Amino acid sequence: MADLDETHDMHLTSWVIGANLESADFPIQNLPFGMYRRRGDGGPMRACTAIGDRVLDLAAVDAACEHSLNALAQEGRSRWRDLRLRLSRLLSDEAQRGRVERFLVALADVELGLPVQPANYTDFFTSYYHAYNAGKLFRPDAPLTPNFKWMPIAYHGSASSIVASGTDVRRPCGQLFPAGATEPVFAATQFLDFETELGVVLGPGTCLGETVSMATAEDHIFGLVLLNDWSARDVQAWEYQPLGPFLAKSFATTVSPWIVTLEALAPFRAPAFARFAGDPTPLPHLQSIANEAAGHLDIDVEARLAPAGGVEEHLSGANYASSYWTPAQLVVHQASNGCPLVAGDILGTGTISGAEAHEAGSLLELGKMGSSPVCLQQGEQRVALQDGDALTLTASCSREGFRRIGFGRAEGAILPALTPP
Ligand code: CA
Repeated sequence: MADLDETHDMHLTSWVIGANLESADFPIQNLPFGMYRRRGDGGPMRACTAIGDRVLDLAAVDAACEHSLNALAQEGRSRWRDLRLRLSRLLSDEAQRGRVERFLVALADVELGLPVQPANYTDFFTSYYHAYNAGKLFRPDAPLTPNFKWMPIAYHGSASSIVASGTDVRRPCGQLFPAGATEPVFAATQFLDFETELGVVLGPGTCLGETVSMATAEDHIFGLVLLNDWSARDVQAWEYQPLGPFLAKSFATTVSPWIVTLEALAPFRAPAFARFAGDPTPLPHLQSIANEAAGHLDIDVEARLAPAGGVEEHLSGANYASSYWTPAQLVVHQASNGCPLVAGDILGTGTISGAEAHEAGSLLELGKMGSSPVCLQQGEQRVALQDGDALTLTASCSREGFRRIGFGRAEGAILPALTPP
């Protein structure tokens, strides 16, 4: 696990004044990695970090990772730690300002792209409360499947439709089975939903046949991003048995521009989920004392909704540490059959929902599958997303004795469906 060092000192400030604001997502203690280009510049994306209201081109410290963060992801923890330390010193030392300032660009003047190009994307299902809430809607007598407490359940998603924050999302068409109908139709989804998730971005990969132990699992984690697993519930309900989600999920997945590294998250470790009395102990390959003590991450996630032309408002929020399986357990499980991990791959945590009704990370749960509409401040109601709605995820970490850090935003607005063929 990453150690605390001078880069985490809460009293450290930057000569980039915007980084020192209490509300800043990107104080000098964060230093996330992303890809940017100047707005209106058609050139390739370049690697950067965020500092306050600016981006700093990584060419200021290192020309080697200019055009891809996948390569940096592959290099591993000592390299990431070294880069973080150099960035922290450069951006805090006023004497370096003259040399470094020309590599800064205002966030308002840049486009932010996908932080990595994932070769593979897996979506897990690790929140006990989400599994219970969603399961209860479909299977009231047995909400949790028998495997849930034994392994982090997942399906393979589609890496080709992972999109950068700010990309509009087209309402998909698919095969669905309207209530009362005698056969399915191909039509635009009537139950478009979001899922509040985090994405674990993988660091160094593995070879075919190689597995990963709990002791070294976090060496394969570069950092975390926000991830919205857009979902067409009516398509999902008809297609998911027996092989799980397919086209109900793969039309778009939005991720945030910034990889918040495990180094930045070091002050915000949390114990693994406190299992209920009678729950099984994880099998030996999925457990470790270190994981029980501090394998989780204390990250507050939030979903916000803005109707077309309306004001953005809080929809729901929860804490990631309430999920049943930790990031290390996802990595170990994913590699446990010898399938290679690839640097830059993304493992979605699954919808993050808490114990309370207002902590649900999807409209499916918030609106109880349509039976209990969510009331918005300006009088509108939602059981599903409407055309023109903009859904935004945010996240932050706060703990006494440390500087608050944020994840930025993962946002997308819904475009009307194209006419079905
Ligand atoms: Ca999901």
